Amino acid sequence: MASEQNQEANLIDGKDIANTIHKEIASEVSHPVTADTSTFSPLLAPNEQGTSNNPSFCFGWVVRVVQGAQYTRLSTKCTYVPGLAVFVVGHTKKSQSYVNMKRKACSEVGIKFFAIKLPEDVSEEEMIWKVHEFNADPDVHGMLVQLPLPKHVNEEKVLSEISIEKGVDGFHPLNIGKLAMKGWEPLFLPCTPKGCLELLSRSGVSVKNKRAVVVGRSNIVGLPVALLLLKADATVTIVHSGNHNPESIIREADIVITAAGQAMMINGDWIKPGAAVIDVGINAVDDPTKKSGYRLVGDADFEQAKKVAGWLTPVPGGVGPMTVAMLLKNTLEGAKRKFGN
Ligand code: NAP
Repeated sequence: MASEQNQEANLIDGKDIANTIHKEIASEVSHPVTADTSTFSPLLAPNEQGTSNNPSFCFGWVVRVVQGAQYTRLSTKCTYVPGLAVFVVGHTKKSQSYVNMKRKACSEVGIKFFAIKLPEDVSEEEMIWKVHEFNADPDVHGMLVQLPLPKHVNEEKVLSEISIEKGVDGFHPLNIGKLAMKGWEPLFLPCTPKGCLELLSRSGVSVKNKRAVVVGRSNIVGLPVALLLLKADATVTIVHSGNHNPESIIREADIVITAAGQAMMINGDWIKPGAAVIDVGINAVDDPTKKSGYRLVGDADFEQAKKVAGWLTPVPGGVGPMTVAMLLKNTLEGAKRKFGN
């Protein structure tokens, strides 16, 4: 514990842990080969006109990109190549960088990556048509739609069309329902919440019988992470914007998982000495010393928290890399479920 021994908190290096998980996945999925690509049959097979016979090309605007061939030989452990399809609408720098990050991660571990890039004015009907196509694609074991979608496309409608067997982000209401119910197992655990629990377990922080406080109750982080903690036998309290005195509740926690999106809201004196603090928040604050004019901080005041907490995740470099690692893990799990090993 940081304060008891007058030491600083153990920093939980999410980047390092995520890298370890990437290696674990790679060792299960494939081994790199560059010389022999004979087992690689590219799904993207443009003809001389730059189009393809592949049905994905029936609209000129659909681009389907498959990762390079260097990881395509099947491993001895795994007789198939897992595939992840990511849908992105519009072409902003931000969405492109999210896609590229996932593409790179897939490429590193040997997961086939499909980027389905749709124009900003894609209709809801066309988008659902594409979702159905990839639902039926046997090379794809995980699907993800990059949010937000343009206003004219109903997000809920599109997301609900993704097959529950392929919805690797784990947000399907049936998955969340199963997560909440005793005796039921969801097909996929939501990536960021799953990453938070993985950070705790890989740092040697046990959850069972601990008092845990989750800050935030969103569908994508707060609520599912609270359910996961409960499933792991913690005593869980959720704090939200309606609480008048969140600090008094947070101060009782052995484990704090915060996903409020409020820059440096949690002061050092809100934290119980020795507690584990997993900071999911990503908040931009002005910083004239940076070229960009801003820097990213978490929900916890890092400098104060590290003097009190026992374990602490930095922002950036804590939970963020775990979200991608869990996406890869879920894709592998989806493929394993399909192939029965
Ligand atoms: P969200 O949908 O805006 O939810 C925020 C939650 O925090 C809400 O439940 C809200 O309460 C609660 N909240 C807001 N202010 C509060 C306060 N002062 N005290 C207590 N509770 C408060 O956000 P989200 O999508 O869950 O994301 C939360 C943060 O995590 C954001 O910074 C986001 O960027 C980050 N994030 C990071 C990752 C990652 O991979 N690292 C992934 C997802 C999200 P009410 O319900 O009462 O409004």
